[in-house]
Formats: sequence, C-alpha cells, structure tokens
Amino acid sequence: MNINLAIKEGSRILKNKFISNSQLDAEILMAKTINKDRNYILLNCNNSINKNDLKYFHELIEQRSLGKPIAYLVNKKQFWDSEFFITGDTLIPRPDTELVVEKVLQFTKQRNKLNILDIGVGSGCILLSILKERKNFYGTGIDISKKCLNISKMNAITLKVSSRLKLYKSDVDKFNLGKYDLIVSNPPYIKTKNIKYLERDVANFEPRIALDGGLDGLSEIRKVIKKSSGLIKKNGKFILEISFDQKNNVKDILKKEGFYINSIEKDLANNERCIVSTKI
Ligand code: GLN
Repeated sequence: MNINLAIKEGSRILKNKFISNSQLDAEILMAKTINKDRNYILLNCNNSINKNDLKYFHELIEQRSLGKPIAYLVNKKQFWDSEFFITGDTLIPRPDTELVVEKVLQFTKQRNKLNILDIGVGSGCILLSILKERKNFYGTGIDISKKCLNISKMNAITLKVSSRLKLYKSDVDKFNLGKYDLIVSNPPYIKTKNIKYLERDVANFEPRIALDGGLDGLSEIRKVIKKSSGLIKKNGKFILEISFDQKNNVKDILKKEGFYINSIEKDLANNERCIVSTKI
C-alpha cells in the first residue's frame, strides 16, 4: 500500500463518521505515523508504507473517528507564534485565547521587568507566549494539576523561557505568594449543565477540570478575581478570558473587588471573550 492510498482510505473512514476535515486530518495523522511533516507526505505520496506503520495509522484514524481531537493525537498545537506540546491533561490552546496575549503585549510595550501571574496555567500557552515576546519579564504560573505544570515546564524549556518562570501546584484559593504587575487567567467558565452541549470533541476529550465553571459558570472566575485582587499591585492590569454571556456578571464581581473596567474585547467570532481591568 502506498501513502496516498492509505490516506484516501483513512479519509473515507473519517468522512463516514462525519469528521469534517477528513482529508486534512488523514494527512496529518499520516505525517505523525511516519514522523515527517505534511509537505513530505504530499511530495512523497507514492512511497510505500510498511505494515507496522499502516497498523499505527489505522489506530490513529480509529481514535480520530471516535472524536479524539487531532491536537491530542499529534500532541501539539500552534498558539501565538510557538508550537506547544500538549496532552489530554491540558485544554487545547484556542485561537480565541490569543486575544489575552495580544492585549498583554499592547499594555506592556514600554515596560520592563514586569512580574506576571497566570492562574490556571495549563499548557503554558498564554504565559510562555508573553515571556517569549517580552525578554525581561518574569512569569509565575499556578495550576491545580501537577501534570499540567510538567507540560508547562517542558514547553518553557522548548521556548527557552524557563529561567524566567516559576510554577506552583496550588488551588487558586490557597496561593498567597508575591505581588504581580499583571495577572492573566483563562479559568474554567462553562456552566456544568452546558458541558454536554459543547462540541463532542471538546465535551468527551478535553479535561473537565479545565472547563467546568460550576452551576452558574462563575465559580472559578469568582475565586480568581477575589484572589487576584489581593495578589495584584495597585494600577496592575488584570486580563481575564470569559464566556460570551458573562460580561455583566463579571464586571460586577470585578468592581466589587476594586477593579476599574477598561474594556471588553471581542474574539474572532465577534463574541465578547476577554475583559481588561485595572486594580485601583
Ligand atoms: N473556550 C473554551 C471552549 O471552547 C472553554 C475554555 C474555558 O472554560 N476556559 O469550550
């Protein structure tokens, strides 16, 4: 069997299971199988594929057909200008979340040696992207998941920012270390009862702990804001990702905790996705 035929067959299997980008997904999984990039696959599609590789390719196709996201199958996802190693223990970095990075960079153009805290650091995509762009900033990331911290650490080493990063395993409630010039967070904010309505790939495969925001979707956001209010320096900026329908509630919580609301930022789909505030 050659690469091209195997991909065609894989793509057909995915299509029958209603996977929308079946051809692209099959190509990516073939690239993963033979440990080459997609260009190589396209340029060498007549090369034959050995039995073991074909078996592995079919296993990947089978997992994809059950809905497992491509990012988890290939253990990587592009975010901002880096590639992040990820596993099923971390949320898959989303293009929408790049908005948080964009805002931070906007507010820190002429600033030096800022201390940044990321609450719920996950794969590290937000914090490490900032550290990579701002070479003299220092980052602290906390997460309740030790596995996420290990992944963040690996990514920090790959991105060459690990000497400016500290990571702590901690619940947001219990973290009391330091004072920060800027705080970012993409906490779990989906209402528990709505998780089952998310796309199947998200609901069945992404870590519930990174999605579930409790009964009203605001349980973790409340904790994050309350804690940030104590950890942030006066005039420090706080940049928080929220769900499209949480703006008014979150504004109220922020005001109560002593933050001035600067702006609400829209994501690529025109949803209000990120709220920028300042500690007063
Ligand atoms: N934006 C994610 C989604 O698409 C949710 C991320 C979160 O809860 N922080 O479901």
